[in-house]
Amino acid sequence: MQKRAVFPGSFDPFTKGHQNVIDRSLALFDEIIIAIGHNSQKSSFFTLEQRLDMITRLYSGEPKIRVDFYECLTIDYCSKVEAGYILRGLRTSADFEYERAIAQINRKMNPGVETVFLLTIPEFTPLNSTIIREILKYGGDATQFLPDGMIIGK
Ligand code: ADP
Repeated sequence: MQKRAVFPGSFDPFTKGHQNVIDRSLALFDEIIIAIGHNSQKSSFFTLEQRLDMITRLYSGEPKIRVDFYECLTIDYCSKVEAGYILRGLRTSADFEYERAIAQINRKMNPGVETVFLLTIPEFTPLNSTIIREILKYGGDATQFLPDGMIIGK
């Protein structure tokens, strides 16, 4: 049985923190789907197409990674793609409280999907997409927080 995980998120944009979670998970799963949760009613900094493109290019040489988007509940998307795992990163205790509730509700909705958490490495704990968006919005240089070689906005 293939171990397929979904790594759901907004990835607006995808940061070195996200990349680190993926890199460390490659040894745990046969396939990881980086799935952008898309809500057409909600505006984002980068368009869905830009985010799909940026992440797809980043992992173009990694056969275990697929990049996709979904417009439904994460747990329903997992059933659709036959994934047995949801992958999430934990930075702080606030993340934990939020993630715990979601994971427990998801488990009630579909006990066949296990949520797996990876603790962030300390240097990436303060890294979040909201701060990166602020830096970019005001023309700052966010390169050090983004995956090496990632082309912003393409
Ligand atoms: P969401 O809106 O679903 O939280 P994000 O794109 O912000 O989407 O995050 C996706 C996942 O990546 C979440 O599990 C989040 O906790 C995790 N994550 C975000 N930033 C980091 C980081 N710096 N280190 C580890 N995990 C992170």
